[in-house]
Amino acid sequence: MPQSRPLVRNPLFVFVPPIVLLGLGLAFVLQPGAFAPSHELVEQAISERQMAAVPKTQLAMASYHQTRLATKFGGSDLVVVNKQRPLQPLEYQPLNLRDIESSKNLDNSRGLQLADQAATALEDLAKAMRAEGAGKLFVNSAFRSYKYQAELFNSKASQYGLEGALARAAKAGHSEHQTGLAADVSVPEQGCAIMQCFGDTDGGKWLAANAWKYGFIIRYEKDTTSITGYTYEPWHLRYVGVQLASTYSKTGMKTLEDFWGFAPAEFYLEETASSTSN
Ligand SMILES: [Zn+2]
Repeated sequence: MPQSRPLVRNPLFVFVPPIVLLGLGLAFVLQPGAFAPSHELVEQAISERQMAAVPKTQLAMASYHQTRLATKFGGSDLVVVNKQRPLQPLEYQPLNLRDIESSKNLDNSRGLQLADQAATALEDLAKAMRAEGAGKLFVNSAFRSYKYQAELFNSKASQYGLEGALARAAKAGHSEHQTGLAADVSVPEQGCAIMQCFGDTDGGKWLAANAWKYGFIIRYEKDTTSITGYTYEPWHLRYVGVQLASTYSKTGMKTLEDFWGFAPAEFYLEETASSTSN
């Protein structure tokens, strides 16, 4: 085997070209006239003036499409996952999971985790909730891995059959809990934990009115099953960030599907529903 020679570069070769390029770049920025014939400059100025009316719209469109793309990725706070929109990648797992911190405002005795930004937001929310007399938050469920969700679904399937399981649990890769951005919460001393009557408790009412200030929405509101695929879940908080949650709340939106203009997702796609695997 030929022995490879260690790569020793002449220092001049390493340093001079970047310096020359930098010099040329600076000269170009500072004095474009020095390098371009004047008629090209005139043409450039004309075309810049012609483009001046366009860029705002184009920029808006570009950011709109960028946002739509971002909503498919599990790692985006904007992700929309439902029965017709599996997570990408399907086995997505957040890299920044951490334990939600228990305190006098929040009971995480189950040792559950969320993505860091959602955990911080939930802790802040619990602090305000307790301070305003709406109760001490208990975390019933938070991040659930693909594997955990698959086991959950399969155990329902062996108990109730495929149809029954579809009605009772999300398929792996189709649950908001897999994003690390969703938490099921309750206020034990007020009762109705993980029941629809939670919406009528002090805690449930406070969350419906204030969760947006901390970047959360009530993801499954009343009478939206035909769009979200889920019945009313006043306990299921979804972190989307303060900016989106604020707009969502102020414009009276009820579902993320409507907010982004996505198709209703009451049922799974045929091939997803009939698959016994995930
Ligand atoms: Zn939930």
